Amino acid sequence: MTVRTRIAPSPTGDPHVGTAYIALFNLCFARQHGGQFILRIEDTDRVRSTEESEQMILDSLRWLGLEWDEGPDVGGPHGPYRQSERGDIYGEYARQLIEAGHAFRCYRTSEELDELREARKAAGLHLALKPADLALPADEQARREREGWPHVVRMQVPASGTCVVEDMLRGVIEVDWAQVDAQILLKSDGMPTYHLANVVDDHLMGITHVLRGEEWINSAPKHQLLYEYFGWKMPVLCHMPLLRNPDKSKLSKRKNPTSINYYRRMGFLPQAVTNYLGRMGWSMPDEREKFTLDEMMSHFDIQRVSLGGPVFDLQKLTWLNGLYIREDLDDEAFLKALRDWAFNEDYVRQILPQVRPRVETLSDVMPLAGHFFSGLPAIDEASFDAVKLGREDLVKLLQFLVWRFEVVPAWHKDTLLAEVKALASHFELKMKDFLAPVFIAITGSASSTSVMDAMAILGSDMTRARLRHAIAVLGGVSKKQTKRFEKEYREL
Ligand code: GLU
Repeated sequence: MTVRTRIAPSPTGDPHVGTAYIALFNLCFARQHGGQFILRIEDTDRVRSTEESEQMILDSLRWLGLEWDEGPDVGGPHGPYRQSERGDIYGEYARQLIEAGHAFRCYRTSEELDELREARKAAGLHLALKPADLALPADEQARREREGWPHVVRMQVPASGTCVVEDMLRGVIEVDWAQVDAQILLKSDGMPTYHLANVVDDHLMGITHVLRGEEWINSAPKHQLLYEYFGWKMPVLCHMPLLRNPDKSKLSKRKNPTSINYYRRMGFLPQAVTNYLGRMGWSMPDEREKFTLDEMMSHFDIQRVSLGGPVFDLQKLTWLNGLYIREDLDDEAFLKALRDWAFNEDYVRQILPQVRPRVETLSDVMPLAGHFFSGLPAIDEASFDAVKLGREDLVKLLQFLVWRFEVVPAWHKDTLLAEVKALASHFELKMKDFLAPVFIAITGSASSTSVMDAMAILGSDMTRARLRHAIAVLGGVSKKQTKRFEKEYREL
């Protein structure tokens, strides 16, 4: 048997360090067994998936050196590798399940579903809706079918008993079937849900081992059942521990930069980031902290993954990156790293229009545009002295902007401007006054290039990191303030 593993990201946002971490372990596992590593794009959520996000994911993984053998961009014998291009396949498999009695068409309206959930709640039952709850009287089912009501396809699930799932790292996992709902497999628009598409594709693509984040454990019983229904052999499952913040909470962009774009823009070296991700719950046999991807592959053993939540610590990563810069880069390699990072034509060209109208000599460029070539600006509380806002309003303004920027769908100057305008009117401030503290937070000074353009060029993660840094130097936001801010923000 050839070992085949995969990473199956959904292209719905920034390329997450968690995706790279899971990709790395799948790659090492495959290589250790002389197998193949596949990249599949799970873009069945047509509303949230974007081409831009897919491209960023591919670019970031490749930047980290995590090459795949088959994928949407390199092709392969099991394509297409983008679920949106595999549309017909899933409908056909759903039909097979219906015919075999393993799935059923459900014509329940959303109001009825709410009522059914309420009824279960009132009866003190688990909220998972079971096939028996969803069943309609035969004549009503027939009427809705005849009249062509919108419907979904759901899977049959046992009403009670225990589901036993094997996990390569965790051994036997037991889940009470009562907690497992009659999962939707096909949505009313005919698109598959993650569960159906994932199982069908893992099977058709010959995946033998599924290494994925532990947040998917709850899906395992449904997947196992689907494999049984289809009569297919299930890949071996392995749920990896989730990355955590130093305070042990789940790694989230609210507390730490989670996008690979941030680390790239900050000037981390890809080999250091990959090495650091390899330290997440895993260690080399001799416990050394610095190792290459090749070394990791040749010493890899999944059984040495420890399940205690690995902490993704920016300070440790920074320390490791420093080792790489000092120990591994000769002048040539250092020069190349600088070029790859920011001293290249592509990047400098983006900055030229910002700089040219504002300089008299070329030596004015660096003092004016240094913020395009740096990380967090050297600012302190006094940097904001000239801003005519009370401290609470100042921090609130920056915090609201961070929150808006966390969800802005596309990172373009126009969309950013729309967010800024909306907030400025909420704060009843002229644009100029609203932008004054933002300017300082982003450029580190009171006069520089246009702040809107700077944010667009610096990207979402660096922008948010600088805004968060400004909040921190202003003394941060207390728990009480956060509560107040959140309430006001929700009412926006
Ligand atoms: N599309 C899922 C994700 O975004 C894949 C989960 C899995 O590996 O099964 O992570």
